[in-house]
Amino acid sequence: MTKRVYNFYAGPATLQYKALERAQKELLNFNNTGMSVMEISHRSKEYDAVHKEASNLVRTLMRIPDEYKILWLQGGASTQFYMVPLNLQQKGKPMEYVNTGAWSKKAIKEAKFYGDVNVVASSEDENFSYIPKNVNFSDKAAFAHITGNNTIYGTEWQEYPKTSDNVPLACDMSSNIMDRVIDPKQFAVIYAGAQKNIGPAGVTLVIVREDLLDRVSENTPTMQKWKTHAEKDSLFNTAPCWAIYMCKLCLEEVKNLGGIKEIEKTNRKKAQMLYDVIDKSNGFYKGHAKKDSRSLMNVTFNLETPELEEKCVKEALEHNLVGLKGHRSVGGMRASIYNAMTLEGVKALVDFLKEFQENNS
Ligand code: PMP
Repeated sequence: MTKRVYNFYAGPATLQYKALERAQKELLNFNNTGMSVMEISHRSKEYDAVHKEASNLVRTLMRIPDEYKILWLQGGASTQFYMVPLNLQQKGKPMEYVNTGAWSKKAIKEAKFYGDVNVVASSEDENFSYIPKNVNFSDKAAFAHITGNNTIYGTEWQEYPKTSDNVPLACDMSSNIMDRVIDPKQFAVIYAGAQKNIGPAGVTLVIVREDLLDRVSENTPTMQKWKTHAEKDSLFNTAPCWAIYMCKLCLEEVKNLGGIKEIEKTNRKKAQMLYDVIDKSNGFYKGHAKKDSRSLMNVTFNLETPELEEKCVKEALEHNLVGLKGHRSVGGMRASIYNAMTLEGVKALVDFLKEFQENNS
């Protein structure tokens, strides 16, 4: 087995080992075609099967009802920051956002190009360490928007807010899609850059309720309408075939591991193990997120001084624990423990953190 480290990067992030192994095996000769998936036409029957299966896996794993379209797009989640308002805006109606961090702010900035934005709740007053409670969206909004998990701050909605029936709720799930069982019907739109919890960078998953596809103004550039991609099953233009193929392999692993229900159990165990270290450290490790808002995916914490944090990151590296430096806007450390991170990886990190505390307190 090739030497691998435990990779805690926030994204691109660790992928399922078996998916990588399978990709390696098929790299030069995919399915007896004598070609790599990277070399095959996106119109070929071989690629078409991959494409359909990737979408099927999303649908079955997340139990997405038939009235939703599954799209594979390019441009990252950042492109959806403007495609959401562009496709959902309605003349004279405000767009309502919850501001739970840097990615929410970026989404809000893009929406403002299209009209009035109401920020109905925010946790900026406490450096985004919590998810606002009792969020109320009006029934006059064109749509509402939230960020499911705040990658930088390590906070996550435990229970998603409700909107009235006529107000579609859009959610940026870039860093928590498929981390737990959800009811997709709570949302009109779900989007996620693939590079954290689905597969490699290069493709963005968009799940959108079909009845919303006609909202977009006719004089919108073709590529910017979800409808264009929905009508052509995400093959209007050349799809990012390799990235979608990798997503398919990774999602097959999720399925083999028992689906999202089982993944959620493991995710809860993994997160609990790390939060226990923080909570039992007598303040040596200080968690950034309030307990009731803690993320299953990104565990953020600080040590007494930046020097100690630097030492911790450096020594972790010597233990093959990579990618633990926190985002510059929060500082400290962050362990991203997405679906592909194993229990063993988290155990290795837990052991290291306990030992580091013993040697440095
Ligand atoms: N939203 C969230 C919650 C993210 O964590 C990120 C990436 N870190 C983005 C959006 C931006 O994604 P992309 O780089 O795919 O545009």
